[in-house]
Amino acid sequence: KTYFNKGLLYKGPYIVQWCPKCNTAIEDVEVEYEEREDKLYYVKYLLNDKGLKTNANSFITVATVRLETMFSDVAIAVNPKDKKYKDLIGKSVIVPFINRKVPIITDNSVDIKFGSGALKIDPAHSLEDWRIGNKNHLEVISVINKDGRLNENAGMFKGLKAYDAREQIFKELEKQKLIDKFEDIKHTVPVCERCKSQTEILISQEWFVKVEELAKGAISVINRDEIKFLPKNYKKILVEWLKEIHDWCISRNLWWGHRIPVWYKKSDKFDNENIRISLDSPGPGWVQDEQVLDTWFSSGLWPISTLGWGDESQSGKSKWKALQKYFPWDFEITAPEIKYLWIARMIMLSKYFMDDIPFKTMFFHGMLRDLEGRKFSKSLGNGIDPVDLVNQWGVDAVRMALYTYSIPGRDGRVSKQLLDERCKNFRNFGTKLKNIAKFVLELKPLETSRQRLLTRKKGDQWIMAELKKTTKKVTKNLDNLELHLAIDEIYNFVWHKFADKYIEQSKSQRVKAQPTLEHVLKQVLILLHPFMPFLTEELYQQFKVKRKSIMLEDFPQ
Ligand SMILES: [Zn+2]
Repeated sequence: KTYFNKGLLYKGPYIVQWCPKCNTAIEDVEVEYEEREDKLYYVKYLLNDKGLKTNANSFITVATVRLETMFSDVAIAVNPKDKKYKDLIGKSVIVPFINRKVPIITDNSVDIKFGSGALKIDPAHSLEDWRIGNKNHLEVISVINKDGRLNENAGMFKGLKAYDAREQIFKELEKQKLIDKFEDIKHTVPVCERCKSQTEILISQEWFVKVEELAKGAISVINRDEIKFLPKNYKKILVEWLKEIHDWCISRNLWWGHRIPVWYKKSDKFDNENIRISLDSPGPGWVQDEQVLDTWFSSGLWPISTLGWGDESQSGKSKWKALQKYFPWDFEITAPEIKYLWIARMIMLSKYFMDDIPFKTMFFHGMLRDLEGRKFSKSLGNGIDPVDLVNQWGVDAVRMALYTYSIPGRDGRVSKQLLDERCKNFRNFGTKLKNIAKFVLELKPLETSRQRLLTRKKGDQWIMAELKKTTKKVTKNLDNLELHLAIDEIYNFVWHKFADKYIEQSKSQRVKAQPTLEHVLKQVLILLHPFMPFLTEELYQQFKVKRKSIMLEDFPQ
């Protein structure tokens, strides 16, 4: 509503993948690709330039599979490096049947070797052309409707299904001698994941947020280093993206999501006077928008909406109390793949509505991939079920194994075998820890020592100093979110210093060493608790002097 009142919200054309059979826009992730055999037609577009005299230069040949979209042509594009078209750049040609004059433009993305090296540009029906169209401020002309049939812009072919129209158009072009040649090609086409019919790229009326002002706000807080990014280079990556940002399409034709709180007066044409923004109906005669909000729009508001922002039922002193208390929070963590979708949006929206950052530290962790570097996915069947690992090795061991891969911003490549090996290693570490606890606590000498902690004995001083060093390093690693280094420190200390050296040496003078043994063990458990929460709590509870939970202990200094 704030957006709307400030004129930041508008409805406009947007390019979407559309399934004519399911009658909905679909997301890229719902599109599959199939290999099809089609014909690649070489169509002559006559030049509009009367000054050119030779026959060879009187037309430009355009290669296309999709004859039916020629009615949405707004330009012909060639590669600027393509010498054969050098003289034609800036000239214009005539689109067959409809006699529209369109310019010949250049774009680096045109493949010189594909077809004739000249492409027709249909921003209404191709993602790549939409991009080229935007760059060159070209018009957008739709020819395919949402039911997959051609509209009035197709003239005599109106009402035909796209594929049927292609055949008819080909025959007509041949009659007019505008077909240079055609050849068979195999290529991939997008199909709907659900019904397998070929999808169309087309233009749909969608809701947009103007983002320029929002992006400026976000850039300013990031540039002022109000948010600490880990790894640091993400600061620059986000700023670069925000500088290039386009208006944000926030409506989706899906079943799941927050329904758009826009109401239209029945039988009225769409204009801003005849719409209301509210959660409930403004009264009889109003209908609500059928679409839902982009899930990332909802997620972008998450930092403030979850804390009560916008809740009109709260008033007075207690109004949005949680928001005042917890916003902005200290720490946010996610995988880098949603840095734009989610993180940048949270920063934009929080800055705009709260004039503040949403969080103080932003940590991008690495992701686990398979040995070939691919993401785990259901369709590839390359996933590793963490529940299987947990059942086999125990949850604490699996946590530790995963921490070894948590290098900030860097992905790890794993197989089940590799993970098994690391899990096994940490299960053994857990067993070691249990044995240490058994030795220190269960096999405690009956004769109690009056000796106080920190005796003058050399061995005790050494292990206390080592514990202090380890604590310092672990704390520093945690501050830098280098969890893989932190567990390495604790692991080495426990296994190689505490167990192998101190405990071995203490066996000959057990009574004297007991206070130090207990002290070091307790500190180790507290240090390790964030990483192995279950085992450390269990062992901690065996101490006589203890708190209700290890979590109530102070972190070692
Ligand atoms: Zn479908």
